[in-house]
Amino acid sequence: MVNRLLGELLAAVALLTDTVKLDGTLSIEVRGKGTLALLMAESNPGGELRAIARLAENAPMPADDASFLELLGGGQIMITLDPREGHRYQGIVALDHDSLAGCLAAYFAQSEQLPTRLWLAADGQRAAGLLLQRMPDESRNQDLDAWDRSVMLAETVKEEELLGLAPEALLQRLYHEETVRIFEPKSLRFGCTCSRERIASALLTLGEAELREVLAEHGSIDTQCHFCHTAYHFDEVDVEALLVEGKAPPAQLH
Ligand SMILES: [Zn+2]
Repeated sequence: MVNRLLGELLAAVALLTDTVKLDGTLSIEVRGKGTLALLMAESNPGGELRAIARLAENAPMPADDASFLELLGGGQIMITLDPREGHRYQGIVALDHDSLAGCLAAYFAQSEQLPTRLWLAADGQRAAGLLLQRMPDESRNQDLDAWDRSVMLAETVKEEELLGLAPEALLQRLYHEETVRIFEPKSLRFGCTCSRERIASALLTLGEAELREVLAEHGSIDTQCHFCHTAYHFDEVDVEALLVEGKAPPAQLH
C-alpha cells in the first residue's frame, strides 16, 4: 500500500508539473498522523522525479490492504511551487478524503484555479494518472457540454486501464467520439538533487553540540541521502571546517 501511494504521488507530481508549466521545483508533501508520517514526491526542471515515504516512529510496516485514511489518520497535504525565479507558493489541504486523488481534487476546488480533475493508479511497479483541466478560453467554444462530457467519460476509467493501456489507446477508448490531439510525450526519470553542500547545511542545522557528540562517538559523521542512498562522509577535519566556515568543505580522497 505504501508503494502504491508513493506511485500515485509521483504520477500526481508529474502531471501537475506539466500543467503549471513551472520552471522550478514542484513538490507534494503528505503529512499523516497515522502509521505513515510522510510521503513526499518532487520534480525538478530537468524532468527528474524523486520521492520518499517515512513511517511514524516505531510504527510497524502497514498491512497491504490498509486503507488510505487508516495509513495516514488525518493530517494535511502541502503543495509547493518553488520557481527558479520569483516567489515560492504553498497551498495546503486537509487529508479528509479516502484517496490521494480525492484530497487533491479538494485542493483544486478550494483554491481558485481552473476546474481540475485527477485520476491516479499505481501497483507498486507502475504508476499512471489522468488529469483533466478546463481551458480558460472555453467561452469561445460553442461546445458548452464539452467539460462535463469529458469528466463523465473519464469517470469510467478503471485502474487496470490507466496502468495497462498506452496513453494513446486509453484516450482512444475514453474519447473515441471526440477529436483528440496528442502531443509529443515527455520522458521522466529518477533524479536526485542532493549534494555534499546540501547535506552539510542539513548537518549544520543539528547544531554544534550534536555534531561534536556524533564525532566523539564515531570518529566521523556518515550519512546517506534519503532519496538516492548516496553516502556522504565527513571526517573530523571536514566537520571542524564546516563549523568554522558554516559551509561544506570540498570532498577529499582519504
Ligand atoms: Zn540524493
